[in-house]
Amino acid sequence: MKDNLLITNIQRFCLNDGPGIRTTCFFKGCSIKCPWCCNPENISQLREEYFNDNRDCEVFGKYYTNTELYGILLKDKVFYNNVGGVTFSGGEALLQFYKFKPLLDLLKKSNINTCLETSLFVDNSIFVDSIIYFDYYIVDIKILDKNNCNNLIGGNLDLFYTNLDVLLNSNKNIWIRIPVIKGYTDDYVNKNNIVSLLKNISSRKNVVSIELIKGHNLAKSKYKFLSTKIQNIVYHELEDLSDEELHCYKQLIENECKDVMVRILKL
Ligand code: SF4
Repeated sequence: MKDNLLITNIQRFCLNDGPGIRTTCFFKGCSIKCPWCCNPENISQLREEYFNDNRDCEVFGKYYTNTELYGILLKDKVFYNNVGGVTFSGGEALLQFYKFKPLLDLLKKSNINTCLETSLFVDNSIFVDSIIYFDYYIVDIKILDKNNCNNLIGGNLDLFYTNLDVLLNSNKNIWIRIPVIKGYTDDYVNKNNIVSLLKNISSRKNVVSIELIKGHNLAKSKYKFLSTKIQNIVYHELEDLSDEELHCYKQLIENECKDVMVRILKL
């Protein structure tokens, strides 16, 4: 083990992870477990070995020092053009927050902006500490019924709202991202709960956009590799959501949130 930042992927030239062209780092380890997760290798906080279809041993998760990761990210600075930057995603990157604070300092000194994608299911003290470090936040909103949230994804909704409140009262720009997953997040009650919340918060001047994102089954092979390993992880085949359903949901949100751009994110 080198230093201590455990990363599964560094993706360059990302256009949907905050403003401009960005390099996104996927941190390994998540605080919840969504049955529709399309990055299941990011759920466990442990490095995981697996055998691919050719029976070669491969690994999910590589350790980096802060300076190593900084060196890699700095190479992309030329593409950021003062708008883009680095996005911390996962998993839940904040689970490793205190370890990568030196990296955030280095990026700031180099005038590289940072964005955090989070589900907000992290200790409030960590979240409060994070606020001065990131320039932008992408907030995932999944299930807004207390019991369903706890039973389906293991999320504490009180914590979600507490952290959301901290963020809304900060001066950070916020992108809202909503996974629309048939059979999990797209039922009538959940959609209404989400639209009500959006209606309440969309007039805040730091809420800049709302994105809808469809689930997919592209991660099936990763589940196959992971199922025999550390996580007791089960693959759930997702039903397809029609474009019409997605557009109706978008329309519903637009009707209630006039001040914010609403868009369907194509991955
Ligand atoms: S929050 Fe994201 S990474 Fe974590 S389990 Fe859910 S979909 Fe997967």
